[in-house]
Amino acid sequence: MSDLSAPWTPPAGAFWDGAWRSPSEGFPVIDPEDGTEVGQVGDCSPTDVDAAVRAVADAALQGEAWPVWRRRETLHEAARLLAARRELFVRLLSREACKPVRHAEAEVRRALETVRLSAEQADRLEGRTLPFGDTPRGANRIGWFTREPVGVVAAITPFNDPLNLVAHKVAPALIAGNGVVLKPSEQTPLTALAFLEVLLDAGVPADRLAVVPSRGVQAGAALVSHPLVDMVSFTGGWTSGNAVARAAGAKKTLMELGGLGTVLVLGDAHLHQAAAAIVDGAFGNTGQNCLSVQRVFVARERAAELLDLVVRGTRELVVGSKADPATDIGPLVDEPAAERVEAWVSEAVSAGATVQIGAKRDGSYYWPTVLTDVPAGSRVLTEEVFGPVVSIEPVDTLEVAVDEVNGSDYGLQAGVFTRDIDAALDLARRLRVGAVMINDTGDFRIDAMPFGGGKRSGVGREGVPYAVDAMTEPKIVAIHTVT
Ligand code: NAD
Repeated sequence: MSDLSAPWTPPAGAFWDGAWRSPSEGFPVIDPEDGTEVGQVGDCSPTDVDAAVRAVADAALQGEAWPVWRRRETLHEAARLLAARRELFVRLLSREACKPVRHAEAEVRRALETVRLSAEQADRLEGRTLPFGDTPRGANRIGWFTREPVGVVAAITPFNDPLNLVAHKVAPALIAGNGVVLKPSEQTPLTALAFLEVLLDAGVPADRLAVVPSRGVQAGAALVSHPLVDMVSFTGGWTSGNAVARAAGAKKTLMELGGLGTVLVLGDAHLHQAAAAIVDGAFGNTGQNCLSVQRVFVARERAAELLDLVVRGTRELVVGSKADPATDIGPLVDEPAAERVEAWVSEAVSAGATVQIGAKRDGSYYWPTVLTDVPAGSRVLTEEVFGPVVSIEPVDTLEVAVDEVNGSDYGLQAGVFTRDIDAALDLARRLRVGAVMINDTGDFRIDAMPFGGGKRSGVGREGVPYAVDAMTEPKIVAIHTVT
């Protein structure tokens, strides 16, 4: 067992204008495993948010004061400090969030890559010359564009990857020369504040950063609608994303929203490989992942065999304390989340679904659950469960599966298992999602790839190089020569 007892106490509950701040109100951060208090953070008001945005806006306009070479060095130093504080972050992620220590360690490794990759994007901040000679109207002109920071980026993050998803917004924004005001998830603000400390210790100019935790939505709403915020980078659920987009109005937005992870298993697939990947993709982080595998369509003649393998793999998962390195399945983020998952499964079962394994709750824990015979229209098939539940459905033709994916409200990533390259590429062409993984589930990404989807899954693409593109704008300089 790891000792998670004393994770970290921030110097104060929030940070802006170069200093730690103590908003008049605070709120506790709770460990979902045992209900104990992990720490206290500030409950920032709209007035606090206004002060934070104004301070960052002043700094973000002083581009030359923090040149690109220094940004790159600073982010490399931040990666070094993050590695040195790995233990602290594992403890924090395991206490305030829902990650068993093994998964917390994996997230710290991912975040390190994200910060290093961001440092390396300094090379991407380049423009090019413009083809004025391509039109008679451009005669006697030369010119170019450079890539300029957008200004103030408002970053809003969810609870399920409290370090790496924060890093995915803050590090690209900084290398691009922006200032950032971060509103982390109210369920996981301590990790965000500890990451802020890493950035400050690494040498990021303190006035370029602000972190404004808040218990309710008022700080986030004030942030995204602030007139000095130039761009909103949001990761969270579709309902919140919709509210954020409305509040932001006509601003640049990057929206990473939910998913309905679907896997297609064709008749010729390697079933052991598919089943292992499905178990991992459905139950990693207890299903609290936008890429979680939620629906599996399998060729009818292989369905019984696949189901058997998935159920056997699920039975081997260890449900337990987050502190135990043997634990695969920790708690959901809180008890209401586990009650919601339980209610959705009960609703499907009342309508005729069969529980193959799982469907048991104890407090904030929900056991990994495999369902079959789930009636069409059940919420476990049509809405993002964000919990450890997967449904397996035999199909007679691929068309059924393609129609289900393309007809759903989401379009993030999908997986296809087959040994037939023609069938795989045909499906890759036809599935309306942001990524098709062949012989993997959709629960796979590297941090350097363009990441995102369409429909209710989001707007635009994150992934470090693409976030840097999104967080910059071209600026043209043209010279009219006198001959
Ligand atoms: P959530 O939508 O409840 O909250 C996300 C963040 O938005 C939090 O910081 C929250 O305080 C804030 N927020 C909520 N309503 C707001 C409003 N009206 N104005 C301003 N801020 C507001 O999401 P969650 O429960 O923390 O995370 C789970 C969701 O995040 C899932 O839907 C999951 O799919 C999604 N997610 C998507 C990705 C991706 O990259 N596509 C990655 C991780 C999680």
